[in-house]
Amino acid sequence: MEYKIIKNTQLVNKITHTSDINIPISVIPRDKHLISRRDISNNALKVLYYLNNAGYEAYLVGGSIRDLFLGKKPKDFDIATNATPEQICKLFRNCHLVGRRFRLVHIKFSYEIIEVSTFRSSHEQTNIINNNKIHQAQSGMLLRDNIFGNIEDDAIRRDFTINSLYYKINDFSLRDYVSGFEDLKNGMIRLIGDPKIRYREDPVRMLRAIRFACKLNMKIDDETAKYIPKLAFLLKDIPSARLFEESIKLFQTGQGFKTYKQLKHYNLFKLLFPLIEQNFTINNNSPMELIIDQVLQNTDYRIKNNKRVNPAFLFATMLWYPLEKYTERLSQKNGLTYYESFFISMNYILSEQCRSIAIPKKFTTTMRDIWQIQLRLLRYQGKKANKLLEHPKFKASFNLLELRANVEQQHKLNKLVNLWSKALIN
Ligand code: ATP
Ligand code: MG
Repeated sequence: MEYKIIKNTQLVNKITHTSDINIPISVIPRDKHLISRRDISNNALKVLYYLNNAGYEAYLVGGSIRDLFLGKKPKDFDIATNATPEQICKLFRNCHLVGRRFRLVHIKFSYEIIEVSTFRSSHEQTNIINNNKIHQAQSGMLLRDNIFGNIEDDAIRRDFTINSLYYKINDFSLRDYVSGFEDLKNGMIRLIGDPKIRYREDPVRMLRAIRFACKLNMKIDDETAKYIPKLAFLLKDIPSARLFEESIKLFQTGQGFKTYKQLKHYNLFKLLFPLIEQNFTINNNSPMELIIDQVLQNTDYRIKNNKRVNPAFLFATMLWYPLEKYTERLSQKNGLTYYESFFISMNYILSEQCRSIAIPKKFTTTMRDIWQIQLRLLRYQGKKANKLLEHPKFKASFNLLELRANVEQQHKLNKLVNLWSKALIN
């Protein structure tokens, strides 16, 4: 069989829908790429074979192909097929329909879930074909996107070219409709289609561009990068629960520090953490800025060493100085005690923060614990200290005190850290 490898980078930015263009396909045969069947989960292979044997097209696609190519371990294995969700479910007993935004199928195995999605159509095309089935907000954001299509449609509705490679199990070849293979080799993050349209459809793609660039150590293509600061404001329309999920991926998957710097650079950070943004200084050296650098570097270090990380600690630390500042302002203005102001301020900081990022209650409860214990840590009372030592959140709270002492370099805080660490050892 003869394979054609076509360089179609120029075309990628112009694609809007498949009907007015014949999308050239590049087929990369097995001997031209390093993806091996041995690195693919057995369950994913099973699903691919089952679908194929039943007469459907089915491919491994997305992040798993990208990560395998880069020699990284994929987080999960996603499959795209021309079988509808109902047809998929007829084949597998362990099958569940999920998803509000998209109708997806989860095939559950004992230790793994394989996500299978039916090829989806490109949005613009769908808009023309059937105005009733798709809704776009004023901003151009997609509100529903669940119309089936063919593999070409599916390829161009994905976010980045490197996320749009399809692995075929029958001949182990890769199918590439958007020059993703070339971009993967060159370490380039490039949106498929017109960035202005694609970011408006789903502004989270801006966060994903930064995340993948940092995680995979890649460059963001100029066109893809250019519109991010201009369209950053669109993140305001994203549900805060989705931004919580996304922020965990941004800050707690091993490249949090680098990602934070890039989010600031691209004007995105302020949409996620407006309270923090308000307190940034020209020299970037306030205790708040120093503690954020420190906690994110520590988080990256813990992840590299397979240690657990808790979003509650991360958010409590990042928001500590905005909380302290608000408490001081409130107690001066209203003549309340520091303690009273502190409690009102905790509520204020959390409710403001949850407008952009909806931190689930189980984490905000821990954040409150960590914050309140800061006040108790200020009074070290010899033997009575034992009670506080037993508090389940003592260790996390003490860690925050240590970080504060580190960035503030105040004699009083350093002394307290010494006293508490001795108590902890005894
Ligand atoms: P990882 O799981 O490692 O974070 P991923 O690329 O697998 O990265 P997922 O969120 O699991 O990311 O999505 C799977 C695939 O779905 C992506 O590779 C991409 O092809 C497509 N996709 C995900 N989010 C979007 C989006 N917002 N717009 C368009 N396509 C998307
Ligand atoms: Mg994935």
